[in-house]
Amino acid sequence: MNYAEIKEYDIADGPGVRVSLFVSGCRNACPGCFNPETWDFDYGHTYTLETEDRILRLLMPEYIEGLTLLGGEPFEPENQAVLVGLLRKVKQIYPKKSVWCYTGYTYERDLLRGGEKHTSHTDEMLSLIDVLVDGRFLLAEKDITLLYRGSRNQRILALHPAGKEDGEETSAVEAVEEIAEIAKGNSSWK
Ligand code: SF4
Repeated sequence: MNYAEIKEYDIADGPGVRVSLFVSGCRNACPGCFNPETWDFDYGHTYTLETEDRILRLLMPEYIEGLTLLGGEPFEPENQAVLVGLLRKVKQIYPKKSVWCYTGYTYERDLLRGGEKHTSHTDEMLSLIDVLVDGRFLLAEKDITLLYRGSRNQRILALHPAGKEDGEETSAVEAVEEIAEIAKGNSSWK
């Protein structure tokens, strides 16, 4: 797997201050994509064990809320095989930090068993992600006022919060409430 960039202090792609990994490779080809250079699977740098160690170190400070995966497309099969290993370690070392992931694919249609992007790694990867922002970026639905999303069709799905069914949609309002809880050190996500 290649990656385009690691942001050490990202405050735009999920709550709090986060480490973000922008992976390379995406077959969605959304018109108006904010990062078209990352469609190429060979773009950027080779992801190595040193890269993984660097991400794990960057997550260490208490003020880092968690990790966000985006791209490119984390759920392209080639990328899932690598990312599931990273997420396993993140959850083992930092069980209280949240993992957010952006995908242009649709949770129920593409990622669940029987979906086009479901692989032998997908179920485990989904089990290690707290919040999934799903759906293609649609230029016609673009709205710069949205929290954590580029277009109105995209959804913020809290995959494993207490008291909710897996995949139940979290509204932007609920997300803001959750963020307030996290800021008070009282998150119910994990
Ligand atoms: S899924 Fe994301 S990276 Fe891929 S084309 Fe769409 S907006 Fe761009």
